[in-house]
Amino acid sequence: MKYGIFSDIHSNLSALEAVMASMDNMGVERRVCLGDLVGYCADVNSCVDLVRKKSDICILGNHDSVAIRRESSLHFNQYARFAIDWTQQNLSKESLDYMGKLPYIVEENDLCFVHASPKSPADWSYVSSLDDADDAFEYFSTKVCFVGHTHSPVIVVQDIKGLPFVIEEDSHCCRPGERMLVNVGSVGQPRDRNPESCWCLLDSETFCVEFVRVPYDISRTQDTMRKLGLPVFLIQRIAEGR
Ligand code: ZN
Repeated sequence: MKYGIFSDIHSNLSALEAVMASMDNMGVERRVCLGDLVGYCADVNSCVDLVRKKSDICILGNHDSVAIRRESSLHFNQYARFAIDWTQQNLSKESLDYMGKLPYIVEENDLCFVHASPKSPADWSYVSSLDDADDAFEYFSTKVCFVGHTHSPVIVVQDIKGLPFVIEEDSHCCRPGERMLVNVGSVGQPRDRNPESCWCLLDSETFCVEFVRVPYDISRTQDTMRKLGLPVFLIQRIAEGR
């Protein structure tokens, strides 16, 4: 089965539409969203609607949790807080109901899906170093675990001896005895210096993964944000991939 795994849309509809089209073109059969549907950009309910209609599994992200007022935005930086306050005011009842029911973690077919880390998913810890990844491998038992949250795509493999290493290429096929932790990058706000949207294709028969980069109309997203008065920093950063 071909899985399309995507994360961190952050209310960027232009990017989300491009990623959905890209998945159609590549024959994706099962779509998994790893959360952070909202925050930062302006297309709040249209993104939640599209994810709701298109994804087979959807996980709750930390921005979603604040958007539905399950937790506070105190630990957010000033831009994230501004955007999430604005999001709270613009969230429809339908979006709120949908996001309120999203799980923190899902497992199926030897795969695990979580927003931040399989190590206590509701604490939103970052897997941003090899040490973090090494630790995270202790907290899932499936062959592969997919995460988002950092907005930077990366594949970490745990070899047959239990040692983790980073794959330099943008694809990898998991060999017998290996396990993988895959960060699928971000649809709506990539931070790896490449502004193109990112998602991850998985063949669940072969356990091969590959990142797919998708150009989209960034100016359309920026125009909407500008019109609705979102911070200039947030408008600029999506064009710079940071
Ligand atoms: Zn995010």
